[in-house]
Amino acid sequence: MRRVSLQQLNWEQYLADFNALASIGQNEAGGMERLAFSEADQQAHKLLAQMAENAGFEVKWDGAGNLWITRRGTDDGNPDFPPLLLGSHMDTVPDGGKYDGLLGVMTAFHAMRLLDQVPQRRTVTLIVFRCEESSRFNCATIGSKLLAEQLTGQMLKSYVDKEGISAYDAIRELGGNPDNLYLERKYIKDSFGFIEMHIEQGPVLGERNTDIGIVNHIAAPHRFHIIVKGTAAHSGACPMGSRNDALTGAAEIILAVERLGREYADQRIVATVGKCDVINGAMNIVPGHVELYVDIRGIDQEIVTEVVTKLHMELAEIASKRNLSIEPTILSQERPVKLDDDMAEFLVEQCLKNMLTFLHMVSGAGHDTMYMAKLTRAAMFFVPCEKGISHNRAEAVTDEAVQNGLRLMYATLVRICTLDPEDEREKAEMDRLLIEEAYQ
Ligand SMILES: [Zn+2]
Repeated sequence: MRRVSLQQLNWEQYLADFNALASIGQNEAGGMERLAFSEADQQAHKLLAQMAENAGFEVKWDGAGNLWITRRGTDDGNPDFPPLLLGSHMDTVPDGGKYDGLLGVMTAFHAMRLLDQVPQRRTVTLIVFRCEESSRFNCATIGSKLLAEQLTGQMLKSYVDKEGISAYDAIRELGGNPDNLYLERKYIKDSFGFIEMHIEQGPVLGERNTDIGIVNHIAAPHRFHIIVKGTAAHSGACPMGSRNDALTGAAEIILAVERLGREYADQRIVATVGKCDVINGAMNIVPGHVELYVDIRGIDQEIVTEVVTKLHMELAEIASKRNLSIEPTILSQERPVKLDDDMAEFLVEQCLKNMLTFLHMVSGAGHDTMYMAKLTRAAMFFVPCEKGISHNRAEAVTDEAVQNGLRLMYATLVRICTLDPEDEREKAEMDRLLIEEAYQ
């Protein structure tokens, strides 16, 4: 029996800490309102920093406003034992759920605290990334993108919220400087690797009754804005044969997007038209101007390109067949990210030892891990959330799922941080340690 016991997890303390943080920014209906850099977001960061200081950890905020919590090991500074990094976020969408982001942060933080139970050699640092959600500035994962040099301070000036405050000003307001992240970037580049835990935000684990999803790819969206133009006309006076209807043309585009998604479903493509605006639409007007928003995601860049190319061919065909003007513009074109196999292997090993069922999966949603993967070896795992509901106050996760995630995070930390992962004798010694503890 090698499974980490519930007693080892110190469950009561975990719950108390999680609930204290989850109550910050909660609205009357029970939804979370912790928009990035808002007062509630700031309050949550401060409370977690306080908890970390009380636990004897080092705390700092970087130039992007990300919170860094470090627990030093006895081999700190030894280049053979570079630090292990963990991370997730605490900001939420409006009226969001309790678990998106916060569960990963609290699991990592608590697992770090549980290292009291073992001889920790490797330093562990938890990074709480700022502004993972795009709700406030229409720009997601700002904290991790800045670290990975995918954004600059200058670029942040153009992302503005409803009140006219830019993401740049929000960071400056906190005393940050988004262009000053050199040391942090180096720390990540020199690290052992990075692990993020998150709720799945989809139904796969629940449907397959599986404890853990080990993510090996994060799909990236290709997004288009498509303007379809025909001729607006009187719905009574314009005969069917003389029409130039932009909306029926748009309907063909929507069906083409769905058909392509289905055709390539085996190759992990998902394709969606999530928004359709009829400009100056009215019941008695044949639509002359429609705008569509298309989101296509996959894990293989070549397949995504193939689907996008086919869609463009269909657009040309629909335009000529219906005598419409169809103009697509690219909104974003991110590349799918493959995560690190060796880091994932540590998770697999600990799933097996802890009797957790797991499957390898793709994350359709984007995460901070995508950007950490540009700097270091990155891994990510999911626990199921009920019915796959997320970004919604109805988001729910069972105690068992939380405990399984915590168990896996702790066991993986013990594995990587107490002993040399390359040394087989040390591995055997670690097994003995965990076995003894399980029987305590
Ligand atoms: Zn999240």
